[in-house]
Amino acid sequence: MTEPALIKEIQYVKGVGPQRAKLLQTLGVNTVMDLLFYVPRDWVDRSNVKKIGAVIAGTSETVKGKVVGAETKQVRAGLKITRVMIADGSGYLYGTWFNQPFMEKRFSSGDEVIFHGKIEVFRNYMQINTPEYEIMGSPAADSSAVRDDLVETGRIVPIYPLTENLSQKQFRKIIKYTLDNYLQYMEEYMPQSIIKKHSLMGIKDAVYNAHYPASFSELERAKYRLKFDEFFFMQLAFASKKKKIKSETGRIFKTSGPVFDAFIKNLPFTLTGAQQRVVEELKKDLSSGKPMNRLVQGDVGSGKTIVALAAAVLAKESGCQAAIMVPAEMLASQHMRNIGSLLAKTGIRSELLISAVKKQKREEILQGLKDGAIDILIGTHALIQDEVIFKDLGLAIIDEQHRFGVLQRASLIRKAALAPHTLIMTATPIPRTLSMSVYGDTDISIIDELPPGRKPVKTMLFESSDIFKLYDFIEDKLKNKARVYAVYPLVGESDKLDLKSAIEMEKEWAARFKDHKTAIVHGRMKKEERDAAMDAFKKGDIDILVATTVIEVGIDVPEASVMVIEHAERFGLSQLHQLRGRVGRGQDQSWCLLVGDPKTQDGFKRLQVMESTTDGFKISEADLEIRGPGEFMGTRQHGISEFRIANIIRDKNELDIAREAAFGVVSGECDINHGEKEQLYRIIKQKYSASFDLINIG
Ligand code: ADP
Ligand code: MG
Repeated sequence: MTEPALIKEIQYVKGVGPQRAKLLQTLGVNTVMDLLFYVPRDWVDRSNVKKIGAVIAGTSETVKGKVVGAETKQVRAGLKITRVMIADGSGYLYGTWFNQPFMEKRFSSGDEVIFHGKIEVFRNYMQINTPEYEIMGSPAADSSAVRDDLVETGRIVPIYPLTENLSQKQFRKIIKYTLDNYLQYMEEYMPQSIIKKHSLMGIKDAVYNAHYPASFSELERAKYRLKFDEFFFMQLAFASKKKKIKSETGRIFKTSGPVFDAFIKNLPFTLTGAQQRVVEELKKDLSSGKPMNRLVQGDVGSGKTIVALAAAVLAKESGCQAAIMVPAEMLASQHMRNIGSLLAKTGIRSELLISAVKKQKREEILQGLKDGAIDILIGTHALIQDEVIFKDLGLAIIDEQHRFGVLQRASLIRKAALAPHTLIMTATPIPRTLSMSVYGDTDISIIDELPPGRKPVKTMLFESSDIFKLYDFIEDKLKNKARVYAVYPLVGESDKLDLKSAIEMEKEWAARFKDHKTAIVHGRMKKEERDAAMDAFKKGDIDILVATTVIEVGIDVPEASVMVIEHAERFGLSQLHQLRGRVGRGQDQSWCLLVGDPKTQDGFKRLQVMESTTDGFKISEADLEIRGPGEFMGTRQHGISEFRIANIIRDKNELDIAREAAFGVVSGECDINHGEKEQLYRIIKQKYSASFDLINIG
């Protein structure tokens, strides 16, 4: 049980009140417990109290002395200066405030005070302008000791990530009060054997020292403990979810048979080594008797579709249905076309379900799903609507999973009577630490090889003032029958943003390249029109396809060899990588031309990364570093956004250690008793029930 004092609402904590409580709530702080875990973003050393006679002008120092006098002077109209002079036997020093005459009354002669701030020289005296200060009252008996009731000075002092209207000083007071009055109610929740094995600091000490460390080495130990806990509980949630999945009975799929043989025989190419390896991994899962829960990672163009399709064909071979859910209608339509042709001679029936499907066809599809006439259903989130009922869904495939929420994924899986096999595909390769933190409950396969004959795309950067050089380049490529994509951040003109739009620029391209045919695709067009434009581009009736990012995911036209992206600085790295992945799919040398005028250092760095590598893993690592994990994943549903102190980029080792410990708890290797285990499960349910489907674990 959580002690009631710890879940008390913060407005009742001394020094908070209803107004500050509202401010704190915007920071995600609702209870005393949240306050205790609201760790500083930094710590500054003010423990080193200097003698006034030894301070150095221009540096930040902490001094301690007795107030010997205070005065406020009207220096000129509108300017009042208050000076408080302190002395410590080695010299005198002023604390100075402008237009804050009330400061004078805060200090009484004889008070012992601490000042901290940058030292300046004023008329032969040292001075600190607007010092951070602390009034310790009348001197303590032992004035050399660091007193434990200090919050601002004379020790290592925390700096918190705060909002406007809440000062460090106010917040430090609140935290100090909370530590002194509530921390005692917190109980150790980590099993003793884990604490011992990993030499963890006790939780009370760790929380205290995270805010007000006794020393920097204690701070390190405190941080380590809190990081460990953050990783540990998340990994424990994964470990238990994984165990739960693996404890269920999965349908045993056949791994060969006439349908599968026909599918393989009719492929227009042979699978790459990596594709074969991953297909084998899938077969093993599908026939294991446990539900598969696997993520297939592979760079753009590595051929994930075929691999997923192989699993879907095995579903048919085994007498059940498969669903393929993709995030965009265009991608769904294209999958439908490709998959349709790959399945042509196998007798497998696939259908497309997206919102654009007309009523009659739709009803026919729903019927076919119910009676089992349809084997593979491809679609967008239209698939998770209630009226979509499968006869027997055995395999759920989710493409470009990062674009779906956890809940959408769960809703698809729930359409199966038995625990279905699930296969997730992501085209944004994720650095290992991140995949551990986001897909920690999932097995991972990697397709690390591109189909043969691909030439890496060459990337060039242009400033917008150089656009004419770019046009010359395109002119030349078009003469050699290249097909060109040109991507813009906006569909149409915007009053608010001074950016080129696809609609405007299509006219521009058409006017400039009169001998060639131009078309447009964007999200506001009707499905039929979009499909028609894509088809024409694919066939070669269109040479220049002006587009928005609707073409970002999955679109596959191997003959396209030039990708122009204007306002490239406005796109994320993985988005640029995805867009670039639309070319370089055929035999010709392909080009990616990025036009942009980045206004920030990061923006410039991003474009340079694009120029320097085509390796998706490298790009995503750079992206993760530039943007941070929360934004990188593009959704706050992942538990990683709850990390306060752990950093999944820097703290790789801590992650590994905590992961091993957590999996040890679930596997039973770790020596803990029943009560300790219960306690841990209670915590993960509290922490993560919103972000994962954690029902029935434990
Ligand atoms: P992605 O991994 O980006 O989803 P796709 O599955 O769309 O990649 O495949 C990209 C392109 O490569 C498609 O045109 C596909 O037909 C082709 N392809 C896939 N596997 C192979 C292979 N083994 N040999 C040749 N071409 C392949
Ligand atoms: Mg794909």
